[in-house]
Amino acid sequence: MVQEVRIHAAPLERLELLLPPARVELLEKTAVHARAMLDGRAIWNLNSTAQGGGVAEMLTVLLAYGRGAGVDTRWLVLDGDPEFFAITKRLHNMLHGSSGDGGPLGPDQLAHYLQVSRANAAEAVPMVRSRDVVLLHDPQTAGLVAPLREAGAHVAWRCHIGSGMVTEETEAAWAYLRPLIEPADAFIFSRPSYVPAWLPPARVRIIAPSIDPFSTKNVHLEPFEVAAALQQAGLVDLPADGGSLAFGRRGGSTGTVRPHRDLLLGEAPLPAGARVVMQLSRWDRLKDMTGVLTGVADHLDRLPDDVHLLLAGPDVLGVADDPEGAAILQACRTLREALPEASRQRIHLCCLPMDDVDENAHLVNALQHHAEIVVQKSLAEGFGLTVTEPMWKGRPVVASAVGGIPDQIEDGVSGILLHDPADLGALSEALAKLFADPEQAATIGAAAHERVRDYFLGDRHLVQWVQLFDGVLE
Ligand code: UDP
Repeated sequence: MVQEVRIHAAPLERLELLLPPARVELLEKTAVHARAMLDGRAIWNLNSTAQGGGVAEMLTVLLAYGRGAGVDTRWLVLDGDPEFFAITKRLHNMLHGSSGDGGPLGPDQLAHYLQVSRANAAEAVPMVRSRDVVLLHDPQTAGLVAPLREAGAHVAWRCHIGSGMVTEETEAAWAYLRPLIEPADAFIFSRPSYVPAWLPPARVRIIAPSIDPFSTKNVHLEPFEVAAALQQAGLVDLPADGGSLAFGRRGGSTGTVRPHRDLLLGEAPLPAGARVVMQLSRWDRLKDMTGVLTGVADHLDRLPDDVHLLLAGPDVLGVADDPEGAAILQACRTLREALPEASRQRIHLCCLPMDDVDENAHLVNALQHHAEIVVQKSLAEGFGLTVTEPMWKGRPVVASAVGGIPDQIEDGVSGILLHDPADLGALSEALAKLFADPEQAATIGAAAHERVRDYFLGDRHLVQWVQLFDGVLE
């Protein structure tokens, strides 16, 4: 069943609190223009999951601001079986330039993909009025471009992935997707290098992702709030603040953390005094959680004794379109179990609960505040919100120079780039330097915060969306 996701309205004025006057003025003018141009038409977004992953994260906040600005924003999540999601995951990996699970992508897979797409289209098309605008996200939705166009909607297809490389794999994935997406009115990519050469440039837009500083995931937390959340969740052995577990006093985010006993897979909480280096991302092969584990475990002697590594990701059972997650988590467990006792005690695996979006976001936020250094050693990355989020929190991020990460981090200024993700020695060296020099770490963290404020907040994204609608409605 196609599910409609509920969207709350968020006032643009809240975002404007953080922006310089010129950006406030542009945002307000754009909102007035959008209401007039759309004239009651709805903006539909369709993707494959309502939570977990960067796309869901961005839609949650941008659609809320759209509603707050008086635009009728809607969100649908499509349905599929494990075979469908295995095929789309394969396409996802191939667009990143990797061979994925090595499984086939032939006529049988195409037939199955089209059958699931038709079933979704049969439910989605009647909801959308002709002349509405539909944004379809990622390979899971490519099969809906034609049915929605035929029904009279204006359709833009948004690709959040890409590698900037042309390989046998990327070509095979595009050959599969090309006939499906070609009827779209417009195509959106996060970076110019992700655009396939055969797309007509006039119909292509480049829109980088963004984060919302007032979302539950990114709102500023005081140290006692961080301590309360992590202690309550059983993640860190910290003294909590007398039961003050609800957040949201700054307006915008509310919610609580429930007591959890097993987020660390049966292992003890991190000690209160541990200095934490963390990678928090999906359990996806391309995020290279196993590489981070090995890179840190093999060079623990380079790091101060009180440094602990935390690898955190979603409870993999909660993410419907991520079939390889459990295998990656298991690989991390196996690697960890094979370590000598002293190393094992300084390496932690954490599965964050996914059944309550707000609670999950609180915990991600608290962990990103709590970590002294954040790592994102991806082998490929579309953009990397897991880099943007800790940068906004003033954390120095050590990350691979892949995908959209170099658009965010200026090496040595607003973070540290790893030019060869396979070089595990470079990872531990960068970490050792930052842990040894808290002053430099703080300077980099402050520059990281400014970088996100200047380029990666939602106002820029919303303005670009309206420019896109202007284009497709011409
Ligand atoms: N995320 C989360 N819980 C987790 C792991 C990740 O909420 O356990 C979020 C993370 O905070 C970020 C998004 O998922 O907002 C991941 O987006 P990113 O662009 O880094 O990568 P993607 O997962 O889309 O490849």
